[in-house]
Amino acid sequence: MNLTIFQCFHWYNTPEERLWVFLQEKAGYFAELGITHVWLPPAYKSAMGAGEPGYAVYDLYDLGEFDQKGSVPTRYGTLQEYKAAIDRLHEAGIKVLADIVLNHKLGGDKEEQIPVVTVDAENRKKWISEEHWVSAPTLFTFPGRAGKYSDFIWDHRCFTGLKLNDEIKLIRHEYTDKGWDDVPAQDRGSFDYLMGCDIEFRNPYVREELKKWAVWYREKVGFDGWRLDGLKHISYDFFPEWLNATGEIFPQKPLVIGEYWNGDMEPLNNYLEKTGYCMQLFDVPLHFRFFEGASRLHEFDLRTIRDGTLMHTKPEYAITFVDNHDTQPKQSLESFVGANFKTHAYAFILLREQGIPCVFYADFFGASYHDGGDENNQEKIVIEKVSFLEQLMRIRKEKAYGPQSDHFDSPNLIGWTRQGTDDSHTGCAVLLNTGDTAELSMEMGQKNGGRKMVVAGNNDLSVTLDEQGKGNFTAQGNIVTIYVFQD
Ligand code: CA
Repeated sequence: MNLTIFQCFHWYNTPEERLWVFLQEKAGYFAELGITHVWLPPAYKSAMGAGEPGYAVYDLYDLGEFDQKGSVPTRYGTLQEYKAAIDRLHEAGIKVLADIVLNHKLGGDKEEQIPVVTVDAENRKKWISEEHWVSAPTLFTFPGRAGKYSDFIWDHRCFTGLKLNDEIKLIRHEYTDKGWDDVPAQDRGSFDYLMGCDIEFRNPYVREELKKWAVWYREKVGFDGWRLDGLKHISYDFFPEWLNATGEIFPQKPLVIGEYWNGDMEPLNNYLEKTGYCMQLFDVPLHFRFFEGASRLHEFDLRTIRDGTLMHTKPEYAITFVDNHDTQPKQSLESFVGANFKTHAYAFILLREQGIPCVFYADFFGASYHDGGDENNQEKIVIEKVSFLEQLMRIRKEKAYGPQSDHFDSPNLIGWTRQGTDDSHTGCAVLLNTGDTAELSMEMGQKNGGRKMVVAGNNDLSVTLDEQGKGNFTAQGNIVTIYVFQD
């Protein structure tokens, strides 16, 4: 069966939604839709409690179990609810991916006097102060957990840098002799520092603690793979070592997906090569092709939709997606694909052979939230669910199989066919149109010669294939048209 990932959250879920409970209820439905993997949000206690999705990591060992940062539960619920959600998903035959955020920590419990230098925010390799001492919240003792599961105390030697009074400081200790760690992203001199207290991976005690934690985490709740956050801010050598050291905790080879946020292939290729192809990557370049498609619509040349993407050049490493929690409105990487092109984009990731697609919660369920600005002047933002999405997922599950033939013929109309397998109900023909109603001649293979296909959800529109399996398919204006065999 085709693999399909579902990203089970968005930036603005509220504690009242009780996501872990919601997922327990939805597990059976997800399986019926053909979802084989779910990506769950960071499940450990955030420095902001329920105030953000979980990327502001405070305590990796608090999965909604200890009274820390304002509550026992996380934004999504308690440890028991989290475990029950994973169990229900497993019972439905769905694998679970845990979101791993290891670049930084926030919400230190105590201040330490530490030596630092201030660096230029736009060129972090440039020091703009003498070494001096400051008081900084770099001591993490987790008093609410009181040493349960791990007695590891994080202090300033576990961190490379931090932000203090809006200035970025490099912390001076034995591991930062050579400055920032050598990370993939070299913009701003070095993009090692992203936020909070930046974790120091050259400290061997940190590396060991993070391996121990991974083993504990898998044993505690039993997930099946990883989604790794913020790769470009972490040295190339950390994750290969960490994955190697923790690989045996999984009964089967885990699916590992990395987030390297860059729209160009060169850094993604570099990362895969330098890390020994130990994971798959989100196809960020493809997301930006979709974003451009939505922005330019009729002027966008559909024949270029997959140019310079992972899906096209390294499909076996491509995790394709349309949008995610970071590209949502008001977010740091805002680049939300407009409704005018969203269905085109989903058809492209769900019905083609290349890449494993990841469907986004807010596109599937819709989402509504306030923008978080001035409380008296908050704008309500509503994301409509993609009306066609459930149908596309069912077609992926049931029909999108077999050899693929492309007909990328004109700037405003492209199409492709999947010939199906030996099961006569499989196979489909897909047309993406950004212009007026038009026809496209495509082939379904000789084995399908003489058969009739109908538009999914509209039996009035049909095509009968000739003896060679060719047909003239009508593409409805400005939308996606999908033909399937009549059952
Ligand atoms: Ca870093």
